Amino acid sequence: MRECLSCHFIMADDCPICPKCGADLGRQSDGTTRIIDLGHRSMIVNDAVNQLRRILADSPRHDHQHLLVITGRGRIRDAVDAVLGVARHSGQIVSYARQAGNPGAFMVRLKP
Ligand SMILES: [Zn+2]
Repeated sequence: MRECLSCHFIMADDCPICPKCGADLGRQSDGTTRIIDLGHRSMIVNDAVNQLRRILADSPRHDHQHLLVITGRGRIRDAVDAVLGVARHSGQIVSYARQAGNPGAFMVRLKP
């Protein structure tokens, strides 16, 4: 289920247009940032990459404007950098960058 951010009507996930107010749901964003922590010491690189890919594939169903992906500074960061580079190239995300002042995290701009 998802909620129209204009009128708060609740409807099925696959509704492209709000049946109550007519808002284009694909263009709604609540301006919020979802935080994903992939920087656990116990997490292996493959698991981190797979989790990120799942979240990116799922992101059109949510209203977040940004993802903050916490990676720490090790090999997971390099793997996440590569996945985000491909996602940007293929148009799955708008852009991404190292978070200012925090070399162990990426800020990702999602498509509206
Ligand atoms: Zn609505």
